[in-house]
Amino acid sequence: AEAAAEYSSGSVGIVTKNLPEVAVPKDLAVPMLPFQKEGLAWMCHQEDSDVRGGILADEMGMGKTIQAISLLLARPLKGPCLVVCPMAAVQQWVKEIGKFTKKGAMRTLVYHGSEKGKVATQFKKCDVVITTYQTLESDYRREAHKHRVKCKYCGKLFMPEKLAVHQRYFCGPNAEKTKKQQKTAAKKAMQSMGIGNSSSSSSKEAPPTITNIYRDFMKQAGVDVKAKGYWNVMKETRDRLQEKSSSSSKAKTSEDGLSRERLNLLDKKELTDLCAKKGLDSAGRKPELVDRLMDFAVTGMAEAPAKKATLAMKLMTSVSPKAKAQAAKPGSAPGKKRPLLLRTSPSGSSKYQGVSHVKASGKWQAMYKGQRLGSFASELKAAQAVRDAAEETDRSESKKGKAKAAKGSAEPPQSRNGLARTVAQGKATATGSKRKHDEMEGNNYEGYETYEGAQLDLSESPLHAIEWARVVLDEAHRIKGRTNSTALAAYALQAQKGYRHLASR
Ligand SMILES: [Zn+2]
Repeated sequence: AEAAAEYSSGSVGIVTKNLPEVAVPKDLAVPMLPFQKEGLAWMCHQEDSDVRGGILADEMGMGKTIQAISLLLARPLKGPCLVVCPMAAVQQWVKEIGKFTKKGAMRTLVYHGSEKGKVATQFKKCDVVITTYQTLESDYRREAHKHRVKCKYCGKLFMPEKLAVHQRYFCGPNAEKTKKQQKTAAKKAMQSMGIGNSSSSSSKEAPPTITNIYRDFMKQAGVDVKAKGYWNVMKETRDRLQEKSSSSSKAKTSEDGLSRERLNLLDKKELTDLCAKKGLDSAGRKPELVDRLMDFAVTGMAEAPAKKATLAMKLMTSVSPKAKAQAAKPGSAPGKKRPLLLRTSPSGSSKYQGVSHVKASGKWQAMYKGQRLGSFASELKAAQAVRDAAEETDRSESKKGKAKAAKGSAEPPQSRNGLARTVAQGKATATGSKRKHDEMEGNNYEGYETYEGAQLDLSESPLHAIEWARVVLDEAHRIKGRTNSTALAAYALQAQKGYRHLASR
């Protein structure tokens, strides 16, 4: 009634008022409200148009189901119609068809559950077949999976085009970096640092958690950390290091250093003055000034970091002490400097690539190539960790490239680089990178097939083997995305007419 009132007030009605009226089907057992008649006229109009369907997005409670049923009755087509809906709505559809249509006007069948195979042969004897998104998807997936091939390296099954990606970037001897290699590398690194050796008694008792490893690190560096738990250990270490550096050296560069948090607290005049003091351009809006000062801090700190850093400080800021030691060796990487940190688009939570701010902890998380490098107290440190990881990769890649060139491989290394970088840049958040990684790896059970590339033989999927008169996707907004397997399963349905029946939530 409320909807009807809103309708008559003119706030809902649209151009549908001008459409030719469609007679209420005689088999409909209940009267239709004016706006429902209009919806019916609109749906008929849509079916006659080139798109042969549409999206009905009426508000909840306006009777989308009755409109859909009236359409099925008003424009009977040869063959059955398919209704796909969430599991919870199956019985509602059955009930409403029973309530809204005259007895025997619509022969209805539910295709769902373990017994579904038995009713699949009855489709053509019905007017309406009701099924669920789960059934639609699992039938589709069963057929799609028949096309998968085994990866000869890991034994996992992939769609052919995904296998190519998988082997190129993730698996096998030619992949950029396999998981196994990563694990082996980590093991080697731990051994070289003396962690996890059977001779070390402390490691024997303490499980190799990140905190214990870190505590071991600090002990070697002469800092005996007593706190328990990762964040407490980090905090204590930081406090003690600050104590140390403030007493041992008078140049407190880290205190003088500019942090984004601190800069944001300053007003514009103070920022302008600061810029002028540092010899920077002092024109512009506040965020620009902050950016400029941060840039200055980054390049300024990159120039002479080693002087004041204690061993513990080095361990704290560097992901790969080995790589740093290598870089420090004269002539090991001649002229190969990457003083500037990778910048990201302004939309991210950090201005540095691979760095994201974790609101809950207030820390900065560093990611590189889908790998978590750790959390850092400052944005800058996280960015430095990303840079170190990038440098290390550059080095190992140039090594690899040399080896490849020696072998006479024709593969251009840039393309690999390009893709790997896309993964790392992805979204600069843990979930973003992880998802991207998974998608490419084929771990995502959805999206293992592209709609465009779908050349599947679906003749053994009952829902896909027949041409439906109409397909009604109830609550179609539940299909998230266009490439997940539910969407692909829906796209693969064949129908003369199709229309989506959406709740406008
Ligand atoms: Zn594999």
